[in-house]
Amino acid sequence: MAELACKRCKFINVDTEVCVNCGSTELTKEWYGYLIIIDPEKSEIAKKLGITKPGKYALQVE
Ligand SMILES: [Zn+2]
Repeated sequence: MAELACKRCKFINVDTEVCVNCGSTELTKEWYGYLIIIDPEKSEIAKKLGITKPGKYALQVE
């Protein structure tokens, strides 16, 4: 199972070559740390990062 972070929105995708969040094909294996957003509307971190969809996001993408 490969976890690839999107370079554009940092969404972590599993076993796909296209980001399911933004449709970008720029995915990378080189990412560090992650946060899980369960309820973007109630999360201050999600608002700060512009995240609107629940999921797992990389903190740092190379
Ligand atoms: Zn994306």
